Amino acid sequence: MSTQTIQTYAGGFFDGREHTNGGDPLPVTDPGIGQVFAEVPGGTEADVDAAVRSAARAFPDWSALAVRERGEILGRAARHAEQHLDELVPLLTREQGKTLRDSRIEVTKALDTLMHYVGLSRALRGAHTPNLDPGVEGIVLRRPLGVVAAIVPWNFPTTLLCNKVAPALVAGNTVVAKPAGTTPLTTLRLAELLADGGLPPGVFNVVTGSGSVTGTALVKHPQVRKIAFTGSTPVGERIMALAARGTKRVTLELGGSDPMIICDDADLAAAASAASMGRFYNCGQACLAIKRVYVFEPVADEVIESITSKAKRLKVGRGDVEGSQMGPMHSAGQRRELSGQVERTLALGGTLTTGGGPPDDPELADGFFYSPTVIVDPPHDSPMATEEVFGPALPIWRVEDLAEAIERANASQFGLGSSVWTRDLHRARQAAEQIEAGYTWINSRTKVYDELPFGGWKSSGYGKEHGEEAFSYYTETKSVVVTSGP
Ligand code: NAP
Ligand code: MG
Repeated sequence: MSTQTIQTYAGGFFDGREHTNGGDPLPVTDPGIGQVFAEVPGGTEADVDAAVRSAARAFPDWSALAVRERGEILGRAARHAEQHLDELVPLLTREQGKTLRDSRIEVTKALDTLMHYVGLSRALRGAHTPNLDPGVEGIVLRRPLGVVAAIVPWNFPTTLLCNKVAPALVAGNTVVAKPAGTTPLTTLRLAELLADGGLPPGVFNVVTGSGSVTGTALVKHPQVRKIAFTGSTPVGERIMALAARGTKRVTLELGGSDPMIICDDADLAAAASAASMGRFYNCGQACLAIKRVYVFEPVADEVIESITSKAKRLKVGRGDVEGSQMGPMHSAGQRRELSGQVERTLALGGTLTTGGGPPDDPELADGFFYSPTVIVDPPHDSPMATEEVFGPALPIWRVEDLAEAIERANASQFGLGSSVWTRDLHRARQAAEQIEAGYTWINSRTKVYDELPFGGWKSSGYGKEHGEEAFSYYTETKSVVVTSGP
């Protein structure tokens, strides 16, 4: 067994510089080899308070800038960070586990989201109603909220962060971010790079630490006006309850169990590829992912065979090893959770066509690997159907027709994404109208566009990210009635 040097980090970035947290050290583990390589002290209540005060101090000047100017500053900072892509990508792979290719896609997308809102900063317009009554006009002003807390999980540490930071900052708020305790490093480095690139001190702050201590302190802090949260449904519900005190604003991007409906007239090869990619990318640890497949009976055997053979062919390996197509799961705990769900499901029924446990390659024995897994026709009340499955295991069910597929698709507490595969426009429209979810892709999968609002229905969340619509979750409006003199 190799011994590694464990590097210690400060854990905070406030007021434009590093801040050493006062809490206990939290380990950061390389999921590909199961070894701790860094330690980061968690943020205490006092550290959180210092971070929030830094953001509150920066707010008056930042919010007073012209929106175009905020956009220009953020744009310069993002372009500076982009020059360090080759440093951010391996850092993300090391702390998260994903392949270098996926890390590059993720960080590039995160910075692109910043640039998207830089562009929108030139397009923001208010509203004006000229003739409310004779001689009376209405103006709707938009004002930032103040200090925004951004709390994100470990599966996409940079994109989920930038989805919040970009509209929040352009709208004139300042931000305190709390990354997951297990993926603090990329976020800390990104904060440094954005500051080096000219983002003024205090505008974007980071405090790392656990959800229970640091996250809770941040949510409860009286100067935090809004919590932008991505994570699990139970934690989201807790945050919403805590936010009631002080009538804080929340947006919640929560769990999902996206259905995919494959009709008998679909391009079956394209659908099978999408199912495999859509389930196994990021080792199945994505909120938007194909998590339940409903396939029409006449084409079911062909589709099951095709998805199974793709799953078998996927090259599982360490994220930093050339040629790996699927990396490890993020932690031992995540893998335990997934194997429990697979085992409880198979105990109830269903046929395992591939996977069902860790790969037997001895090279991978120390990492948190799990083989791509396909289960056909498990009971509709088994964990595969009723719980969020956050790992590389895909259930496939045969259905009679579109009505049954939609009914099954909607029989879930979640409503994040969904897709339907058919060449029949009428069927596609019917599914898009009837599936209870924030996104429906017709003949494509899981790609989120910065141009379109994104957010879950039902237990998958509250509020929207992306698109111009996101600005409305980082601002208050004020109606001003102007009555002209006699
Ligand atoms: P999680 O446990 O809910 O954690 C998310 C974040 O919240 C982490 O930073 C966590 O910190 C923090 N946290 C935990 N407890 C907290 C508390 N009591 N108060 C304040 N903050 C707290 O989520 P996860 O299970 O790690 O992540 C996966 C989940 O995220 C899945 O359910 C997935 O579907 C969902 N997700 C949703 C979207 C979307 O856009 N809808 C996108 C990606 C992921 P620590 O981890 O340090 O404890
Ligand atoms: Mg958690």
